[in-house]
Amino acid sequence: MDFASSPATATSLLLGATDVAPVLEHNADGRSPFLFTADHYGRLIPKPLGDLGLPESELMRHIGWDIGIAGVAERLSKRLDAHLIAQRYSRLVIDCNRPPGVPSSIPLLSEATTIPGNDGLSREDRETRRCEIFDPYHRRIHEAIERRQAEKRPTILVALHSFTPVYAGAARPWHIGTLHRLDKILPPLLLRALRAEGDLVVGDNEPYAVSETTDYTIPVHAEARGLMCCGIEIRQDLITDEGGQQQWAERLARILGGIEQTLIGRKA
Ligand SMILES: [Zn+2]
Repeated sequence: MDFASSPATATSLLLGATDVAPVLEHNADGRSPFLFTADHYGRLIPKPLGDLGLPESELMRHIGWDIGIAGVAERLSKRLDAHLIAQRYSRLVIDCNRPPGVPSSIPLLSEATTIPGNDGLSREDRETRRCEIFDPYHRRIHEAIERRQAEKRPTILVALHSFTPVYAGAARPWHIGTLHRLDKILPPLLLRALRAEGDLVVGDNEPYAVSETTDYTIPVHAEARGLMCCGIEIRQDLITDEGGQQQWAERLARILGGIEQTLIGRKA
């Protein structure tokens, strides 16, 4: 994989001395089989890119990041003693869940918003964003899974996301959605557990499904290795505040903890 072999850049062209590192981790030595990723955790923009030509009101919207998921992901990681690898820069700078090179990787248009700072980029501009943000994030996920496999520890990759309640004028009824394709073990267990909650409208490959052009983390890190995996999408209005984040982290910790027990029981 390219990101695994690309050399570290000696001189940064994008992230300056006051810009934070793109990768944020919690519980790197956590004992849980679950490995959580959050591709759209943050909405930072590297200083040299200014505001990408957008007002703050646009940068704070769902087009810039997954609203609420940071608070859920951190609490969930803590409750389950699970490793979380998250990415702090806005998906408008480079989307860490898109293959580099597809139009939505560095979008010129997101929903109905044009991103002036992404217009007319040179090949070098694109490469720099990839080298300094996308690659370090995916390199860490790659390394973490390799290490777990070398240590003969199981890995169940769960990619955490959130979705906007209204997209292009259409209201979305689901509280939570699962995204899955190749793994036939975790997604049915997760869907059954979520439906058993009784108070949830659960999306099965809704509002999104996994594909090669609209995803990167699940296909490249989990499916290519035959790992158990699933994407989780939580509706943003449910996790905008800390109370909602706490509730959803507790609920998911209980459900995923139950699934872990089921899997252990099957093996015994
Ligand atoms: Zn997302």
